[in-house]
Amino acid sequence: MRAVGLHADVVVATSRAYQTTCTLVRSPGSASRSGQISGEAFCIDSPVFPDELEIVPALAEQAGFTVVGLLATHGDWDHVLGRYAFPEAPLGCAETTAARLISEPGNAQRKMREFDDEFYVERPRPLSLPSAQRLPVPGKLDIGDRELELHPTEGHTEDGMAIWVPWARVLVVGDYLSPVEIPWLHGSLNAYLATLNRLEPLVDEADHVVPGHGGPIDGTRAAAILREDRTYLEDLLEQGEAAKLPLARRTAEQRKIHAENVASL
Ligand SMILES: [Zn+2]
Repeated sequence: MRAVGLHADVVVATSRAYQTTCTLVRSPGSASRSGQISGEAFCIDSPVFPDELEIVPALAEQAGFTVVGLLATHGDWDHVLGRYAFPEAPLGCAETTAARLISEPGNAQRKMREFDDEFYVERPRPLSLPSAQRLPVPGKLDIGDRELELHPTEGHTEDGMAIWVPWARVLVVGDYLSPVEIPWLHGSLNAYLATLNRLEPLVDEADHVVPGHGGPIDGTRAAAILREDRTYLEDLLEQGEAAKLPLARRTAEQRKIHAENVASL
């Protein structure tokens, strides 16, 4: 697992599985007598492997981040494993995600078990998914004496939110704007395009963007990916299977996703 500091108050860890990202965000803290700065923090999404999840609390502690809660950008299983790192922390997510977790009971657990069976992964205990606290999206979430902005994201799935950290100019988007994965439609294509439009002004303001897979990237690169993704989706709508994949993402695996997208239209 790689970990990189984007700002004094933002650290991103990237999992070895699917390059899934886990973002720690802290309110600007105050220095203690020893000079160590600490502040209230959230853990957004999660790495995938047990050894990675085990390291996250130490990573947070070393950096002076006191994790008081978990946030999930959306309800896909590989983003909701934070309880393995912080067993007591409450989980907050968009209303749409909370509703999805209730309407698909056991789904995340089943998908995780399928992954674990395939890669012979052993977990210390079954996945616990506490009933999530529903956050207003669009809306704001208090962190210390600051606020995070929450913006709705739909299209990849039917649920989700992006999180804007204004003072650090970091945008955590969930499964959009990925340098390694093409747009993957489990929701509607029009909703996906609307999400890209909504994200665009935030991306323009961002120093860094953290996609759910394969990040973090700088704002300029994210803006370029946003334009590529929009073109791909517009072509998909008009040309179906003949739509060209973004140049840097034409792998066999991405062609499978493309085939799924075509089938879903
Ligand atoms: Zn994902």
